[in-house]
Amino acid sequence: MRLVCTECGREFSLATRRWRCECGGVFELAERPRFRPEAINAESFSLWRYRAMLPALKEPISLGEGWTPLVPAHAYKREFLAKLEFLAPTGSFKDRGTTVLVSFLRELGVDAVVEDSSGNAAASLAAYCARAKIRCRIFVPAHASAKLAQIRAYGAELIPVEGPRENASLAAQQAAQRSYYASHVYSPLILEGTKTIAYEIWEQLGGRAPEAMLFPTGHGTLLLGAYYGFRDLFDAGLIEKMPALYAVQSQACAPLAKVFHEDLAGLPDVPQGETIAEGIRIRRPVRWRAILKALRETGGSVITVSDDEIIAAQRELAYQGLYVEPTAAVAVAGLREGPGERSIVIPLTGSGLKALS
Ligand SMILES: [Zn+2]
Repeated sequence: MRLVCTECGREFSLATRRWRCECGGVFELAERPRFRPEAINAESFSLWRYRAMLPALKEPISLGEGWTPLVPAHAYKREFLAKLEFLAPTGSFKDRGTTVLVSFLRELGVDAVVEDSSGNAAASLAAYCARAKIRCRIFVPAHASAKLAQIRAYGAELIPVEGPRENASLAAQQAAQRSYYASHVYSPLILEGTKTIAYEIWEQLGGRAPEAMLFPTGHGTLLLGAYYGFRDLFDAGLIEKMPALYAVQSQACAPLAKVFHEDLAGLPDVPQGETIAEGIRIRRPVRWRAILKALRETGGSVITVSDDEIIAAQRELAYQGLYVEPTAAVAVAGLREGPGERSIVIPLTGSGLKALS
């Protein structure tokens, strides 16, 4: 399996320690495994039931991630199915990608990694590195406070970096020259993990796809993974139509809304406004071109929501017994402007226990 640069087409070994191309482009896998329903391991109740469709790995580093429940819920007088991603081992969907990435790193013999995040991606990476006995260092913005206790509990080293969020990324990328940049944003192996959400939904719906899905969207790793997963099912002739994929962003930081609705040629410079949906407060989504392609191809769109709407959606979910963090309520808030489709699945991405104040 090889990596290919999405900008210049240059190929690299999957074992490279590069996290992006010399030209600045991001990597994707040159070839992806095909979906074969007969290869599902029905005895496994984790995402590793799709092991035959995941990059070849001798021994997965698994904490039982994936195979999350799909339960009925409602908001704004709309019915939908909630995919309870917050029941993952570290409390967020990030574990889907991390299990694949860390399994691969162990196989490569990597003994130390770095990452920049103060949130769910870092907590997930720290947990799986603990399991794999890989040293984990996380560069965090000095002002960040949330979720650090969970990251530290797994034994990861936290390195505070002064200045804006981007400074933590730069510090991690510099440290990566002597380590491995285990980035949820840049590694295409993350998308191989997140694609399994589509396979699961297809199985749970009795071999069907929903008509639409809504995602809280920052860098869009879950939306893109779902796109790949449903494409695999479509290419295998198992679904007749792709679900319409909707990216939901906070009004305070919505670069995808602008580039999509104004049909811009490049990513605009938008402010990184304050929002309670801190998990998707991303000014420059690295794979924005791929996200736009997925939205346009499936007939989806970008919806923006305010903090008040997010809080209302969070409360509405809690009144139904579903306790999620604000970022996870973003997609449900997006139902207000609602897509026209009737059968809708919304992943609830992160646990409310992570955002206790
Ligand atoms: Zn390139």
